[in-house]
Amino acid sequence: MPDTGVTASCEIEVRTDPLTGAVARINRARQGRPRQQEATPVPEAMKGCPFCRENIESSTPTFTPDFCQSGRIRAGRAVVFPNMYPLSPLHGVVVFTPEHKLEINGYGPEELADGIMASAAFARAASERGYPFHFLGWNHLSQAGASILHPHFQVIAGKSPVSSLRECIASCRSYREREGRCFWDDLLESEVGSQRYVGKTRGFSWIAPWAPTGTCEVIGVLEGEEPSLLELETECVLGLADGISRILRGYWELGIRSVTMGIFSLPPGHGEGTFRLHARIMGRSRRMGCDRAFLELYGWEVGLTEFPEEYAASLRGFF
Ligand SMILES: [Zn+2]
Repeated sequence: MPDTGVTASCEIEVRTDPLTGAVARINRARQGRPRQQEATPVPEAMKGCPFCRENIESSTPTFTPDFCQSGRIRAGRAVVFPNMYPLSPLHGVVVFTPEHKLEINGYGPEELADGIMASAAFARAASERGYPFHFLGWNHLSQAGASILHPHFQVIAGKSPVSSLRECIASCRSYREREGRCFWDDLLESEVGSQRYVGKTRGFSWIAPWAPTGTCEVIGVLEGEEPSLLELETECVLGLADGISRILRGYWELGIRSVTMGIFSLPPGHGEGTFRLHARIMGRSRRMGCDRAFLELYGWEVGLTEFPEEYAASLRGFF
């Protein structure tokens, strides 16, 4: 193969496809990840859960003292530690609640906000060590790809943005060149108050996208111009968490139990005014065992059954 692979560490290999530029991150050790079963009753599951309050100190690894003096980063009740099966040299696991609760209608804004603040603290520490880009993701339940079911975010830090973020930055720039305006200003102008408008929380507007990339997808867009989670004021972190919590409660009513979320954020000062901090969240596998098939994986298009105008109307009731 061409020499386009970059070995990030002895365990992770990041390869770039020479034709398409698509990135693959390979870590063979991930095959050995422990897997929690959804059918296990909660009291029993808690005993063996490495992320539960009573086990987290003994069952999870710590950062080296030069990265974090106390070993684990904490914000409120959230705890960040290194992923034992990483996909980047700095890959944090963010357990945002000590409680082993799996139902998405039970996550309040405070615990989600703790998780976002802890994620930002991890990203800030990574940035100070030469990994300025970060990507906050959430896989909830096994349909979404989670191996440990105890709710947790993950943050991947890197020297360059993940592919979707890189594409987003490029698209924001070309929109500005083509239209002479910021895409996000135009989006908010046209969508707030539209049939796809879901609601507002402090600092954020929540919108169902015209062409969703997954089941009942919603985008939360920061109204201010800051591109970075690392600069977000506490009030706005609470607004972001509040919006996520409301969407999750709305999803529950729609029968959604599993979600995937990504927060698109740049290092402070990046984006030249063309980019806005935003979160995307979608439901997973509502009716089938798997919602990523040939059209999604090889066609790079999405087959959906719900119209954004319809689910936006349902979710609006939670704002
Ligand atoms: Zn647990």
